[in-house]
Amino acid sequence: MSLVLPTYDDVVHASATLNGVAHRTPVMTSRTADRLTGARMFFKCENLQRMGAFKFRGGYNAIANLTPEQKRAGVLTYSSGNHAQAIALSGKLLNVATIIIMPEDAPAAKKAATEEYGATVVTYDRYTQSRDEIAAEMQKQTGMVLIPPYDHLHVIAGQGTAAKELIEDVGELDYLLVCLGGGGLLAGSALSARALSPSCKVYGVEPEAGNDGQQSFRKGEVVTIAPPRSIADGALTPYLGQLTFGVIKRDVTDILTVTDPQLISALKFFAERMKIVVEPTGCLGAAAAFSGALSLPKDSRVGVILSGGNVDLKDYAGFLTQV
Ligand SMILES: *Cc1c(COP(=O)(O)O)cnc(C)c1O
Repeated sequence: MSLVLPTYDDVVHASATLNGVAHRTPVMTSRTADRLTGARMFFKCENLQRMGAFKFRGGYNAIANLTPEQKRAGVLTYSSGNHAQAIALSGKLLNVATIIIMPEDAPAAKKAATEEYGATVVTYDRYTQSRDEIAAEMQKQTGMVLIPPYDHLHVIAGQGTAAKELIEDVGELDYLLVCLGGGGLLAGSALSARALSPSCKVYGVEPEAGNDGQQSFRKGEVVTIAPPRSIADGALTPYLGQLTFGVIKRDVTDILTVTDPQLISALKFFAERMKIVVEPTGCLGAAAAFSGALSLPKDSRVGVILSGGNVDLKDYAGFLTQV
């Protein structure tokens, strides 16, 4: 089977599609962050993106690229996290009906937020039912198009626009640190970095407890792990996609891991020093720099994607007050 991998051209097209719809999010710097790492840090603030995460880019780009007939049929996806909200909001903006399949025990706030954006939420019991089977069954019944959270050409291309903007705004980088779940953001970012800053080393960063990406990268094939536990709830995917892994193994330098305490320490840094709310998953890249998981040469130019800011306030308060 030969896979058609996304290219930088697809990212450029996605940029045009997202122009005026997605926010061109700011890049923040911090002298304290530079002092702590010895490097020059550039933080791309996707926590300030519409619906609170970069996922809006891929979701919107994927729906916008459907044929008129597919748009009429509507879009289906499974997610309890940011992809659900991205698809729901994008569907609303593009006038496309959306159904989101979520586990019954997903947080009520997430379910409510997704419904507020206009999606229909269908729940299932994750202990007895398979979401893939439910999705396939619903697809058959309704003719809706399934847009998965990461292993999709237009999703990856959309996610790549964040790194494209970052490099356009600050110039070439020596390093780029990207949060890694299923690999849509990392693959898209790597396409942009290869094209716009060819000597930039691109690293994916995932939670230590869920290092399927690292194992896959080292082994040269997709490795599946048991469902991991970490506060980085957006990066708990047990395996990479075929398309995302195809780009990652070709264009990424290495995959690093960080621990939950290292994520909390980065989350606190963003709150206290930079006055921004970043969700635990969004702290992965930064935590690799702050913790020394990656040693950065003095004054090297380091881009970090802060991928999202959607965190339950009670949990957030708990992280902030943890010693
Ligand atoms: C989904 C998500 C990730 C991981 O993205 P992938 O494309 O699945 O690798 C990272 N951070 C946040 C905030 C997310 O929502």
